[in-house]
Amino acid sequence: MIVSNLVLTAPLKGWIAPLEETPDAVFAERMLGDGLAIDPLDSTLHAPCDGAVVSVHRARHAVTLRATNGAEILMHVGLETVALNGEGFEVLVEEGQTVKAGDRLIRFDLDLLAQRARSLITPVVITNLEAFRIVRRDQDREIGVGEFLMELAPIARATAVLAGAGDEVAREIVVPLIHGIHARPAARIADAVKAFSAEAALVIGARRANARSPVGLMSLAIRHGDTIGIVASGSDAQAAVAALAALIEGGMGEGAPVIAKALASSAPTAVAPAAPAQLPRDGVLKGVLAAPGLAIGKAVRLSTAEIAVREAGEGVAHEEAALARALEMVRARIGKAAETGDKARKAILAAHQAFLDDPELYAGAHRLIAEGKSAGYAWRQSVGGYVEALRALGDRRMAERVDDLIDLERQVLRALSGEEEAEAVLAPGSILLADELLPSQLMSADPAAVAGFATVRGGPTSHVAILAAAMGVPALVAVGDALSRLKDGTTLILDADSGTLRVAPDAKALEAAQTALAQRQQRKAAAKAAAHEPAVTRDGVRIEVFANTGSVADAQAAVANGAEGSGLLRTEFLFLDRETPPDEDEQARQYQAIAEALDGRPLIIRTLDVGGDKAAPYLPIPAEENPALGLRGVRVSLWRPHLLKAQLRAILRVEPRGQCKIMVPMVASLDELRAVRAVLEEAKRELGITEPVELGVMIETPAAAVTADLLAAEADFLSIGTNDLTQYVLAMDRGNPELAAGIDALHPAVLRMIDQTCRGAARHHRWVGVCGGLASDLDATPILLGLGVTELSTTASIAPEVKARVRTISLEACRALAARALDQTSPDAVRALVQTHMNAPHGA
Ligand code: PEP
Ligand code: MG
Repeated sequence: MIVSNLVLTAPLKGWIAPLEETPDAVFAERMLGDGLAIDPLDSTLHAPCDGAVVSVHRARHAVTLRATNGAEILMHVGLETVALNGEGFEVLVEEGQTVKAGDRLIRFDLDLLAQRARSLITPVVITNLEAFRIVRRDQDREIGVGEFLMELAPIARATAVLAGAGDEVAREIVVPLIHGIHARPAARIADAVKAFSAEAALVIGARRANARSPVGLMSLAIRHGDTIGIVASGSDAQAAVAALAALIEGGMGEGAPVIAKALASSAPTAVAPAAPAQLPRDGVLKGVLAAPGLAIGKAVRLSTAEIAVREAGEGVAHEEAALARALEMVRARIGKAAETGDKARKAILAAHQAFLDDPELYAGAHRLIAEGKSAGYAWRQSVGGYVEALRALGDRRMAERVDDLIDLERQVLRALSGEEEAEAVLAPGSILLADELLPSQLMSADPAAVAGFATVRGGPTSHVAILAAAMGVPALVAVGDALSRLKDGTTLILDADSGTLRVAPDAKALEAAQTALAQRQQRKAAAKAAAHEPAVTRDGVRIEVFANTGSVADAQAAVANGAEGSGLLRTEFLFLDRETPPDEDEQARQYQAIAEALDGRPLIIRTLDVGGDKAAPYLPIPAEENPALGLRGVRVSLWRPHLLKAQLRAILRVEPRGQCKIMVPMVASLDELRAVRAVLEEAKRELGITEPVELGVMIETPAAAVTADLLAAEADFLSIGTNDLTQYVLAMDRGNPELAAGIDALHPAVLRMIDQTCRGAARHHRWVGVCGGLASDLDATPILLGLGVTELSTTASIAPEVKARVRTISLEACRALAARALDQTSPDAVRALVQTHMNAPHGA
């Protein structure tokens, strides 16, 4: 039988409270089951779902329903009401009767209960918790009959495969990690188990992997929302299972954009090379952006020549010792490499270290050595097995980790052979070409000589792509087999931003690229020199150029680049690596520090925007079928209003008053803004603040864009989040690299939404800003200004160039340009229009 999730609606009008607040240990300690309590404001109990009446207490105060999916729900009106012996209660159903959600079950006399019962509080609990768990529940608000109360999910029998496993301790959990158990969580789990002597494993379906083995865990391909079993045996099995469950259920900081941030506009999965094997006639190969930038240079092929290994060993002891020595050498090398470099590089090396310590890899090699094979052969076979397993999963993210394993395989084989790989001496301006570039190859290459790189395969989130972005090296991945045909020394123009690699360009193309590169460098330098001047159009209109921030360091970078404030503080970035929500004081300290780093410049603080692709471990959001369409942004804040209140109070406490404005993400309707304003007013009252505090909304949903006039009537300003607006308008996942080429915010459909937003805002004289990626796109500057945007909040490093561009254009010309842009049929046509316009002799 397929058992599906079940939504329970409120059986009573009243105030929802957590079960633990029930003044009766039987309920508060969940002896009867898990659920919620409702403090009633009305006197009829209704069915919370379709089902059958299993039992009605003889004292008429409690009823149990069995839902159609088997969940059993006990509703107990008031506490110690059994003592009333039925007085004040009228039962409207019979045992065995089937009911529909909303049907009336019990009517009671609220006044009588108020006088005679110990409490009116009415627990609603699921009694068969062995079969169901609550995955979502409402709380701390007034609720009406029929409104969402909680959601139950059946417990998959993940641990069934363990039946009869003797002294094993087992527990089932749902994986909240947004990207499932991939390399880094696997390494952390393996690390956590080291504190215990118990043998522990994770189980999903009929598959099981040693929890000490990161590669084994990865090969389970556990995804977000999967129900898995954690099992352990041994003296501290119980503690090991509890620790692993806490670690995984805590989210492990997944979604923490240490890496996601480094990737900026790139995406979370890999792409199979799709390019043809022949060089195209125009000599331009297409690839996927892994790290932005433009480079001109000479091809340097990095061949990862097979390292020859003997199959037969020279005795078990000899081979064992050789392998142990080689592993030690590589371990030491990785440790040394991790002493320098940024956070991204260190995280990657830590994952390599964990693979190196993987007991399963070692055990696999050990078995083969015991059968008489050489250490090299055994190591290659053992790693190769996992490489195949990961490739076979069909999970792109896991397949991307294959290059890490191959990298380690090579490093150990090299150490075994006693030869150091001849490190290519690179001439300056080298563009590295490889089938798949290995992280260690990029790390060991001279950064001053590497102009860029391109690979046949690979994905934009592979570790090597992350490294490239951190090193500022332009890079393309997934260029396809045609790349293998290029000869060493071929001249190349790598334009990562447009996803192209021009092979052996003719003199004209080369000159154009050299000019573009020189112009870029010059433009950057000139813009930087004028970064602290205001941005005023040629016809005298002042445009505010702000920068987006997520930390004190970002605020310092904003100021250094001439930003006039921060148009978006992504507060979720401040508190990602933690397992408990930041309290009000801590938030106030952080916001204060950022406000001070901005030295009095305006700071727009966005309320928490978690959910979707941004997970906050301290706020596990139940598994969702479509997270981008689920509990995100303001919906999360209204789902947990006490967190919203704490955040608003923290913002209000920042001195000097008036420096901070507040902005609400992912708004889809005016009611959401009103609900946030109500909490804001309450917070202001509590803090004795009487002066107005500006509250704006982000325009990120088509709903918000088309109702901008309604929102602007009550919002103090509107700021367009073009990253989300584009994904929702075009129905294209912003994190899907297969769609990366098509998800362009200069699509006329998105521009029409921006147009509508500006018109709506103008009706109420509200200003409109853009804080999404489009604000940092120089092609977009004249169009956005022409549509009526007056504030641009950009990436700090581009702010000087955005200011410089504003100074070259006139608003009047921008309006005409924007009107024409709205009538184009594609983003490319819009870009071509802008280019023609900007290059026209009369300028913009
Ligand atoms: C946006 O969606 O454009 C935006 C600024 O918000 P985020 O990128 O943080 O979702
Ligand atoms: Mg957004």
